[in-house]
Order: sequence, then structure tokens, then C-alpha cells
Amino acid sequence: MARACGLDGDVRNDAEGVLVRLAGTPPRLDSFRRMLERDPPPLARIDAIQVRRLDLALPSGFVIADSVPGAAHTQVTPDAAICDACAAEIRDPGARRNRYALTNCTHCGPRLSIIRGIPYDRTRTTMAAFPLCVPCAAEYADPANRRFHAEPTACPDCGPVVVLHGAGGAAAQDDAIAGAIGMLRAGEIVAVKGLGGYQLCCDATNEAAVERLRVGKQREGKPFALMAGDLAVIQRYCLVSDEAARLLRSPQAPIVLLPVAGEPLPDAIAPGLGTLGFMLPTTPLHVLLLDGFDTPLVMTSGNLSDSPQIVDDAEAMQTLSAVASHFLSHDRAIANRVDDSVVRFMAGKPRLLRRARGYAPAPLALPAGFENTLDVLALGGELKATFCLVKDGQAILSQHQGDLEHPATFDDYRRNLSLYAALFDHRPGAVAIDNHPDYLSSKLGRTMAAPIIEVRHHHAHIASCLAENGYPLAAPLVIGIALDGIGWGDDGTFWGGEFLLANYRGFRRIAALAPVALPGGAQAMREPWRNLYAQIAESFGWDAARSAYSDLDPVRRLAEKPLPTLDAMIAGGINAPRASSCGRLFDAVAAALGLCFDRQAYEGEAAARLEALAVTAPAAEPGYSLALRQAKGGGPQWLDAAPLWPALFADLAACVPPASIARRFHNGVAEAVADTAHALAAAHGAYTIALSGGCFQNRLLLERVIERLRASGLAVLSHAQVPTNDGGIALGQAAIAAAQLIGRKAPCV
Ligand code: ZN
Ligand code: ZN
Ligand code: FE
Repeated sequence: MARACGLDGDVRNDAEGVLVRLAGTPPRLDSFRRMLERDPPPLARIDAIQVRRLDLALPSGFVIADSVPGAAHTQVTPDAAICDACAAEIRDPGARRNRYALTNCTHCGPRLSIIRGIPYDRTRTTMAAFPLCVPCAAEYADPANRRFHAEPTACPDCGPVVVLHGAGGAAAQDDAIAGAIGMLRAGEIVAVKGLGGYQLCCDATNEAAVERLRVGKQREGKPFALMAGDLAVIQRYCLVSDEAARLLRSPQAPIVLLPVAGEPLPDAIAPGLGTLGFMLPTTPLHVLLLDGFDTPLVMTSGNLSDSPQIVDDAEAMQTLSAVASHFLSHDRAIANRVDDSVVRFMAGKPRLLRRARGYAPAPLALPAGFENTLDVLALGGELKATFCLVKDGQAILSQHQGDLEHPATFDDYRRNLSLYAALFDHRPGAVAIDNHPDYLSSKLGRTMAAPIIEVRHHHAHIASCLAENGYPLAAPLVIGIALDGIGWGDDGTFWGGEFLLANYRGFRRIAALAPVALPGGAQAMREPWRNLYAQIAESFGWDAARSAYSDLDPVRRLAEKPLPTLDAMIAGGINAPRASSCGRLFDAVAAALGLCFDRQAYEGEAAARLEALAVTAPAAEPGYSLALRQAKGGGPQWLDAAPLWPALFADLAACVPPASIARRFHNGVAEAVADTAHALAAAHGAYTIALSGGCFQNRLLLERVIERLRASGLAVLSHAQVPTNDGGIALGQAAIAAAQLIGRKAPCV
């Protein structure tokens, strides 16, 4: 650009970012700036451009200078999906890299997934084993080439090689991909080595293959992601907005959850959900593979059951051979597991539900007031875990790690902690942990040398939402609404439907869903009927339900359960903790409508199915009422769900369609939540509402709450870049800990 504008000077990476020094006439300098802003390199992210006058003479011409070594501010960038230029090149019969499945350039390819240390150069990546050939080295050294300083660049002569492993041995390169295409067409399941981990792949239109994959993977119910060769294929099955299309085609190339519309696909892909998760090819290997199909492929993470996605070749062969007949693999090792990211469009914005490939570890700017904090490490929660580093006023949120209860995931999590500490030269002055005593991340934090800051789970949720939205440290208190499954409260109960008067420094619980027993504790998370029973018992009573509605399905099915045992648990408070959980209320209503009555196959399944059912009813259904009441002896106000149950059962008895009942429940909860927040805001002089917690992954709930709050003139903050589920709480913990450390510092004079 500088040369095109006829300017002298140089460009280099320094400790703070990119430093460009230019000499020329003011109009030329202006046109350079406009050009840079309008048309930056594809993976560039311009946070700010600062212009300063230089009083020195620059040599004539424009050069790219060597990087200035120094403090490790140099950012490790996220992996990027294959760019258009590379995709065109591998399909060009005359190109040197025609059909080469491991090509990349400065605009695309692996980054975080191959890095082992800093500074980021080839010798510290898994490409160290592949010395550049002469033509590749020339491209690497040529500033005009799109492979200038592309550390993982390679070609068929010097780079890694694709192989297809199967029962009959291994085949190389072209034959490998053609072979895999043949296998998939024949209904086989093939394991594919993706950017950040192995994937399991089959023909999505082949019902038998999909069913076999589900059984083989030991994954009941949880939706499978799909990959299509281009947008036109996706549009045959789903509604794709222009915004969704742009996101699918972006370098981040996430899985986008899209409403089903058009040709049917086997129900086993995403049972009962009404949405499908689609992505476009992320690597050249995927491009070449998908070129063999005009229909989608299932492209789900390569693991069994709930274990982490496999990255190691030998482990993949050993473990996944239970499912896959063939392995489409290569000899470029994956250093770090990076799962596919998941995005859902809600309330007019793309919102990350899982933040990993393409997004992590890009830094998030912390709000005003956080400029001068010490380094902080926040360890996150336990499910959908992530961790977060604070450094130089920025937050670096790790990629999705998964469920730490799984030993392999926890090992990975600890390994990633060390990796990030090295990559970002990070020495925390404090470690923030969840207040749950048994979270593995909390236990690990207590063994660390730095001082511990314990953060309440739902305070972390709200602070995460504030931080993501740039809400300043010194800004007024907000009303935070945290709706999720379960988090540890500070009063011996579990929380999960909270209204907090909060800022980064602290909070007060001013209202919550009225607590209801969780009979069976952890079992109540998996078995929605337990929550239905507890809700009925708390509302109009089981005896009344049985006498009035004995012929209704949910009542008949409950009657077959060991109810006296539950009664004893609830009455005696034995393994029946009380919880103000919004997630469990959704489970109870789902069970009342016969969804996941006995058990749910994965966390959130019942609520997801309930939402999918509600979507099919008219939006204007009248909502069920909840009641806000003052607790005896002070304390938080209770938002009581008890009044909705008689209305819901009356509707069931009157044969109101289940979809309408589901919609009435969504509307009722959303309206009650918004009205409660409105009343609390008025009472406490707050005018900003922050929404967080896993329940806000529900589109109907999120959209209706936002709409109603905005209609009453309140400012609403919600999540987009950071997950609203527990994948986001590390950011909130980090911001809270940083705020405390700033508070403790002596005031600057
Ligand atoms: Zn490229
Ligand atoms: Zn080469
Ligand atoms: Fe949570």
C-alpha cells in the first residue's frame, strides 16, 4: 500500500503491535490511511490507529523491517479457515500446489493449533520437521508474495503428506482423498484430521450411516455438526440470512446454527431441535473432500461419548477405529486441541455459544478503568470450561476446554494453562476461581502460588457480560440477571435464577427465582421428571394434581415413580438441596409436555427441545404468570413459579396444543423476568440490565426479555463475543479480580 501511494518509510512489528513510519505529502499520507482502514489484510484486526509526527528523515523507498524482539506482546493469532486464493490455487491444475491439502498463506491456515512456544516462528511449531524447499523459501522471503513470513507454508515438495489409512493399508495424497470420498459415498464413517482435532465424518443424507455414527460414538441425542461444500448446498436445508452467509464464509468459519427449512435430513442428526449446525470447509483437505459431494457431510468432533476431541494420530487410530473404517490423516501434528466454534443468531446478532477455532486466543479489550491492572489468571468453571489471562488491559480468553470432570479434558486444561503462560509471558499477581468448593478448577487454583480471589459464580456471569460490553469500571451499578443451571450460592443453596445489583467490585442478591428442591441432587439435573414433581409439590401439591388430573400423561407417569422416597428426601432435606435454578424450571416444564421426561441425554437437551416446540406456536400466546413476593424476614424477593403450574395443567387438561403451552411458558418467564428487572431498576436507580447465564442460549427467552426491557426504556447488555454459558465466566472472574487489585492499589498522585 505504501508503495502504491508513493511513500517512503518502513513497517515492523514491535512490542505494541504494528509500527508504520511514512514520509510523503499530506494527501498521499491521507490516502494511505484511508486505504489501510478500508482494505486491511484479511486477518488484520485494527483496534486503533494512532498518528504521530516524526522529526526525522526516513530513507527513500519503503521496506519491511525486522521485528523488534522484546516483551511478549506479540499476539498469537487464532487459526483461520482456508482463504479464497488458496482454495482457487488447489483447484488450479496449473498451480504448483494443485490438490495440495496442507497449503496455507499469511491470510489463512493453522496458528494456535500448531504452536509450541514463542516467538511464533516455524521452528516452534509442528512445521519444524519440514524444511522449506527453494521455491517456498523464496515466497517466504518476498514481501510481495502472499506467503511472505507465512510460518507454516508448505508445498507438495517440502510439506506434510495426506494419507488414507484403512483396513487395506495406507494410500498417499490424491488417492487418499479420492479414496475417502469413495468410502463416504459407500456409507462408511471416516475419521478426518481437521485443523484443531480429529473429526468423524459420514454422508449426512445416509440415514443408516448417521445412525451408525451415533451408536458408535456413544453419543445419544447431542446434535451433530454438518459441513457443506458451499452456501448453495446449505441453502437447500436451512434458512441462511445474508449475515449468516458472511459469517460462514469468514476466516473464523464457525458452525452456525440455522433454522431448518427445505429438504429434510435424517432426524438423527439433531433430534428434536429445528436447527442444524452448518459450517463451510475450513482447511484445504476439507475443500478437496467436499468437492466430491453436492450434499452435506456430518463433521462431528472425533471422540467417543464426552471425552475431548482427539488430536494425536495413534490415539485416533486406536480409539476411533471403533467407529471409523478409514482415517484421512497427514503428518502435520496438532500441538493444541482447538474445537470448532459455534454461533447462533439471536436478537439480531451472532452470538458465540462455543468460542474456540477462529476466535481464541484473540484478545478482548477490557473496559475503561482496567488499564493499569496487575496480571490476573482466572480459572473459569467446570463445565464448558475456559480460562482467562489479564495482561496490559486486555483479556485473553482460552479456547473452549470442555468438561473438566473428564480426566483427559482436565489434563489438557492444565497443559493449556502452561502453554498460555509461556505464549503470553504471563505471571499472575492473583488467581481467580469459582466459589464452588469442588470444581476441579477451583481446587487447582488453591494449589497455585499466587493469592486466590474467590468469585461467586453468578457475579462472574454478570461481570463477564459487563466486560464484554466495555462497561466502564467506574460506571453505575447495574441489575444483572443470571439465568443458568446451577451455581454455588453463598447461603448453602444452589443458585441459578438471580437478580443481582452489581458492578465489578461487588453485588447484592436482590431477587431470585423462588428456590425449589432438587430431589436426588445430581440426578435431578439428568432426570427432568424429578423437577416436575418438586415443582408440583411446591405449587398446588401432588395430591391435588393426582385427584384433578389423574388421566393426564405427566401425572400418570409420575405416579409410577418412587414418589414416597422423593417426599422423604424433600421433607428431610436429604440429597435434595434447594435451588433457584432457571434451567431446572425449564426441565420441569419440558417433562410436563413429555419431552425428556425420564432423562435428558445431554445438559440443556430438555430446554432446547422445549424451545424448538415453542417456536412452532404463534408468538403472541399469553404468558403464564409468575409472582414476585417479599421473602419473610427480609432478604431477596422471590420470583415464584408456583402460580404458572395450575394454569399449565388446566391448559393440558383442555387439550391446548403442547406448542402453545411451551410458548406460553417462554412468554411468561420472559415477561416476569423483564418486569422484575424493571421494578428492581426503578427501586435501585439503575438503568442498565446485564443478561448472562446458559438459559440465554434460548433464542425465544433472550429476544423477548431484551424486547420488553428496551420497551421500558432500559439499556440492555448481552453476550455476543463471549459465551453466555459457563464458557464465559472466566472473563467475569478475571474482571472482578482485576477490579479488586486496582482497588487495593494506592491511589496515583
Ligand atoms: Zn490462504
Ligand atoms: Zn515447498
Ligand atoms: Fe453458570
